[in-house]
Amino acid sequence: DTVLTPQETARLRALDARHHMHPFSDQAALAAQGARIFTRAKGCYLWDSEGRRYLDGMAGLWCVQVGYGREELVEAAARTMRDLSYYNTFFQCSHPYATELAARIAEKTPKGLDYVMFAGSGSEANDTALKMARFYWTARGEPNRQWVVARVRAYHGVTLAAASVSGLEPMYAQFGNPVIPTLRMMAPYWYGPGIEGGMSPDEFGLTAARQIEKAIEAAGPGKIGTMIAEPIQGAGGLLIPPDTYWPEVQRLCAEHDILLIADEVVSGFGRTGHWFGSQLFDIQPDIMTMAKGLTSGYVPMSATVMGPKVADAVRNAGTEVAHGYTYSGHPVTAAVALANLEVIEREGLVERVRDDIGPYFQEQLRTLSGLPHVGEIRGVGLLGAIELVRETEPRRFFDPLGRMGLAVRNHATANGLIMRAVGDTLILSPPFVISHAEVDELIALARKAILAGA
Ligand code: PLP
Repeated sequence: DTVLTPQETARLRALDARHHMHPFSDQAALAAQGARIFTRAKGCYLWDSEGRRYLDGMAGLWCVQVGYGREELVEAAARTMRDLSYYNTFFQCSHPYATELAARIAEKTPKGLDYVMFAGSGSEANDTALKMARFYWTARGEPNRQWVVARVRAYHGVTLAAASVSGLEPMYAQFGNPVIPTLRMMAPYWYGPGIEGGMSPDEFGLTAARQIEKAIEAAGPGKIGTMIAEPIQGAGGLLIPPDTYWPEVQRLCAEHDILLIADEVVSGFGRTGHWFGSQLFDIQPDIMTMAKGLTSGYVPMSATVMGPKVADAVRNAGTEVAHGYTYSGHPVTAAVALANLEVIEREGLVERVRDDIGPYFQEQLRTLSGLPHVGEIRGVGLLGAIELVRETEPRRFFDPLGRMGLAVRNHATANGLIMRAVGDTLILSPPFVISHAEVDELIALARKAILAGA
């Protein structure tokens, strides 16, 4: 039974407070309050140890594309654990799972992005991408081009390298000097600095993109080799760039010979109604990183996919490239990823997000405009955000930032809807199998939470 006795829940909470160091948590506050303990999940719903049901408007951490509890993925894991519970892909070895998966990923990515290196998390995939970019510049005889252009509000993960290029300050500021020399340019956040500058979205998109030139100037000649960016910034508040932004970034990267890493950890595997966010914006990155939706979060796995420029440097190095993880291309995770891709394809889930449930979700989300304090509503596919403000006309943010977002999120959780608050922006990213009726339920619960909290 997945409903635990009150005593058992209390026992687990006490153990958790005593021994479990949680990611991204105020440990003391968490210990005082007691963790919410989840024991079961199916489709788009979760249940906690006390039997309360939650509609998961976040698909976990933006990852459970195919919904919870899919037998196809369970079977693939069980079968592979029996047949080949572990073997590595080091030292001239492979197995059918990693090999097939690398080929399947290459089919889905933009043309030329054909060379796949596996890891275990999004952070590791970005670490790998940053290392491969350095490898490339060294091989080209320009080892000084180690500086990276990144963006304010970016989230690329928590390894020393991924945190260095992230743009949420505590992520790098809490841990001493960043290990990657990084210049952070403004985010393409029209509802923030765009409005403050009195610019139209298109004007602002160009202005934000052209910050690359300022970064190049600030770093000095021959320093910047790489730019890393999420096609849509997720954890930074779901920032969807104006149409003019990506073409200009792409043009400037080409003009200044800067490698472009697209971090597709959130925007990949159908989230926007395209296999990758790069396809939505017609970006041609040199390297793409992916995780989350690759396995729908059932097991940890990520990939760094290289185009010919970087891949040729690695393939023609004439020496062993000293990088890789014990679990790179793990047979069980690769088998689960293959089963996940099969479900996504067989059920036409990417097309469903593009043509059916995505547009329905976007339409319903916009019925929340006009509620008190609802400023901008933005989204694409099954990504949605509601930014709360003190006043909408003229737009004035809350001070202090974030308290209202948290209050609304807490009301939502209490009523059985999981959504996320980034400052005063509420974020939704539900599983692709969400039904029309479940979207209606989600929007009704979000409406109730906004009315109660704001
Ligand atoms: N990149 C992006 C865009 C992310 O949103 C995340 C995690 O949320 C990461 C990288 C890091 O992934 P992981 O938590 O698997 O290391």
